[in-house]
Amino acid sequence: MDKAKNKKIAFVTGGSRGIGKAIVEKLGKDGFTVGFNYVSSEEKANEFVVKLKSENIDAFCVRFDVRNYKETENAISEIQSEIGNIDVLVNNAGITKDKLFIRMKEMDFDDVIDINLKGVFNCTKQVASKMMKQRSGRIINLSSLAGVVGNVGQVNYSASKAGVIGMTRTLAAELGGYGITVNAIAPGFIKTDMTDVLSEKIKEKIIDLIPLKSIGYPEDIANAVSFLANDSGRYITGQVISIDGGLSAI
Ligand code: NAP
Repeated sequence: MDKAKNKKIAFVTGGSRGIGKAIVEKLGKDGFTVGFNYVSSEEKANEFVVKLKSENIDAFCVRFDVRNYKETENAISEIQSEIGNIDVLVNNAGITKDKLFIRMKEMDFDDVIDINLKGVFNCTKQVASKMMKQRSGRIINLSSLAGVVGNVGQVNYSASKAGVIGMTRTLAAELGGYGITVNAIAPGFIKTDMTDVLSEKIKEKIIDLIPLKSIGYPEDIANAVSFLANDSGRYITGQVISIDGGLSAI
């Protein structure tokens, strides 16, 4: 792991691919020391760190499963003692296990809640007290349009992402007095591995419903995270920012 040179530290969960990867890259370009974790994509994660370093970005990665409290605690406390306190936490790691409710198994529900919701609790728990002592910090949680309005086949996922919104608003109220902002981003339909599994027919149908008539890209989300993580986001807290090409407006 690299020592930070008086730079602020941003940590992104699930940063080896998809939206998380774009966020890591953007915050690195903004001048943060960037760290991220992965659970299965070790090779991609290491290659990405090499690429970031070749661009003169201070970067590190670490393997831990956000659903496991103890693993998360050990990994984040090691980062805090070896590199420094985390100034910006982006809770991005997430999964889907889509099925109609009637076919959904208990494990499909538990896995999605454990990673998407409990994972946000586990990671935030490790940084909040240090941020309180510093009297500054930014926490940015990836929710979803499905957490705002619900979506057929996603009872587990929409419940987890609605839970993330509840946590975001409550944490904003509890931590605001310590100079910590807490916001959520609710992406619509963004091109990543998560959405690549959908059939072309379904993708076309969704795009037709989007007022801007286009899928979103990970960089669209990364730009908003950057806005919130930097001074530009100083006075924004407790908000859910939709980035969905207008899908939530119709
Ligand atoms: P993705 O391409 O499927 O990537 C998921 C990321 O989460 C990977 O980096 C993965 O790490 C990590 N991850 C999964 N389980 C983990 C665990 N137990 N511990 C640690 N890391 C774990 O997903 P994405 O589309 O970029 O989505 C990123 C976030 O945006 C998610 O929270 C998702 O729900 C939300 N979102 C996405 C969309 C969309 O349209 N794509 C829309 C709304 C919201 P490994 O690679 O190591 O497995």
